[in-house]
Amino acid sequence: MTFALYSLFALAGFATTAPAEDAVASNETIPFNGGSLQGVVVPPDASLAERFAASECRRYLQQATGAKLEIVEAAKPPQGKTILVGRRFLATPPAAFSRNDRFGPDPYVVEITDERVYLAGRGDRGTVYAVYDFLENDVGCRWLQPSDDGDFVPRLAEIRLKTGRREESPAFVFRIAGGFRTEAYVDWATKQRLHVITQEAEFLERGGGIVGTMGHAFYQFVPPEEYFKDHPEYFEMTDKGQRKSERGQLCTTNPEVVEIVARKVREYFSEHPTASFVSLSPNDYWTWCRCPNCRKYDTGEVFLKATTRDKFAELRVVSDGLWQFLDAVAERVEPDFPDKKIYCFAYNQYIYPPRNVAANPMVMPSICHMSPANYARPIDDPDDAENTRFREIVRRWRETDIELFYYAYTWKTMWEQNPWPIARRLARDVRYLSENHFIGFYSQGGEGAWGQLGVNFYVMAKALWNPDCDVEAILDDYFRHTFGPAHEPMKRYFDAIEGAFTAKGNFIHHVAPVETRQVLRPEVIAACDAAIRDAYAQAPDDVVRNRIELVDRPYRYAKHFRAAHDAHSEWSQTANRADLQRAVAEMSAAVSLCEENVPPDALSPRLTTRVRDRYLKKWQRALSEAR
Ligand SMILES: [Zn+2]
Repeated sequence: MTFALYSLFALAGFATTAPAEDAVASNETIPFNGGSLQGVVVPPDASLAERFAASECRRYLQQATGAKLEIVEAAKPPQGKTILVGRRFLATPPAAFSRNDRFGPDPYVVEITDERVYLAGRGDRGTVYAVYDFLENDVGCRWLQPSDDGDFVPRLAEIRLKTGRREESPAFVFRIAGGFRTEAYVDWATKQRLHVITQEAEFLERGGGIVGTMGHAFYQFVPPEEYFKDHPEYFEMTDKGQRKSERGQLCTTNPEVVEIVARKVREYFSEHPTASFVSLSPNDYWTWCRCPNCRKYDTGEVFLKATTRDKFAELRVVSDGLWQFLDAVAERVEPDFPDKKIYCFAYNQYIYPPRNVAANPMVMPSICHMSPANYARPIDDPDDAENTRFREIVRRWRETDIELFYYAYTWKTMWEQNPWPIARRLARDVRYLSENHFIGFYSQGGEGAWGQLGVNFYVMAKALWNPDCDVEAILDDYFRHTFGPAHEPMKRYFDAIEGAFTAKGNFIHHVAPVETRQVLRPEVIAACDAAIRDAYAQAPDDVVRNRIELVDRPYRYAKHFRAAHDAHSEWSQTANRADLQRAVAEMSAAVSLCEENVPPDALSPRLTTRVRDRYLKKWQRALSEAR
């Protein structure tokens, strides 16, 4: 489908903002396929999500045309040209709706005839998706960022649509945008057909959220403050035979621990009947219970960690101990909750599948691309040693034949807010995952750094729905809609910095001060500076200038960050006070850019603490002591 009346849209010029809903002055109805649009129709017993979907359809069509549109309740399709929202109106529901798959409410259909538009999902969320798909692909809207300024709505004198029917189903069951919490972000994710983990009724009613828990969870199920005093045996035993009440794990072979956890998992699913999964992931510490019973599951295998973290070289693999526990819990939960999943990280000392214990299919391992990993390169790069080791881990998981989940670093917080441009690499990783039995994807990302990450999320969303999507076309479309006449230099900036980040031979993992040098080389800085300068010169209005600033701020931050570390390493060699002074000045400039938080979402003030404490404060102290 192409968008309606492209020529009119072009004649209207580049409209970054559209008239707000309350600016609808005319009482005229919308000219529609040679007649006039009579309304958006919902059934009288429409769900809250169907009503929300209908109101979104009306909102954007009114913005696009400046004309009025009513929402009408009717049990059957009324006469005249209408848009029908909800499954009720479909004469022939698509085959996908009755298929027994795991995609839940998400599949949907968009059907356009001369008289009518049918927008319907298998469930509520699919209906919301159908509306946004129609608005995006048939009307020409774009959702570029999570704010009122972030919508692109074309101005149309008339809506004329190509007739046809398309049935849509995602490639991944779970497509989770991590760290999205505010209304604007959750709404944006829904428009991109991404999921957000939430327990908030309001977000669920609008179709965007899925219910579940993720994250490190052992102490949530068996809190030390509640159990340790009377039952130290529930908790991790150290090599020296002592039980730990903090910064440790549970004793996963203790039968009472299994019963407590199983009871609480059952309670969670009873209290949250719509939940998809609950996390039973171990705590985020690199130890394990060393009691005699737990030691029985020690296979002698050693986890070969990433090259950057040598202190963990001898870490013992504990997958068998973990998976006998997961299996015992799953056995007690599965009979009453056969459709639910237990979510568990496959990470660090438990990244491998178990060897002598069955991998229970109720459990969904979330394989973290953390160690081994080279974030600069796609997973399927045959020449990359770290990612080759990661692929070997995936190969072993595939032998278990259970459904896999992937934990992605769409952003690495430990990279201290330096640019993380990986849109193309991400899309290639998503394709690899879709070919390797993965049904879920979680992105460690988050709010507050849209300038760097927006394009990653945009491409990620489209690839998770359809891994065969045309990434170059999506990028081109994104830059044109986001930056209008300044799209060419902004795309040039992105290509330069992404090319530098993902270049063959780079190793990017954790150590920002060292690793940013691979990206921000002098010739890359020169190319990016020129591109940003050209973009500002070509920006037609404040909306576009603001969007450029959103990208330019983190870039300027990164230049200060890099210059600060360069000066600091010179100081450590020369002991020349002027070098340290320069380091402090550059790092102060970097930190100020974060703290100002202008425009919002360029850089995260919250994450600035780390940079301020790790570098700036220490260096300032050293400077006051240096003579
Ligand atoms: Zn134990």
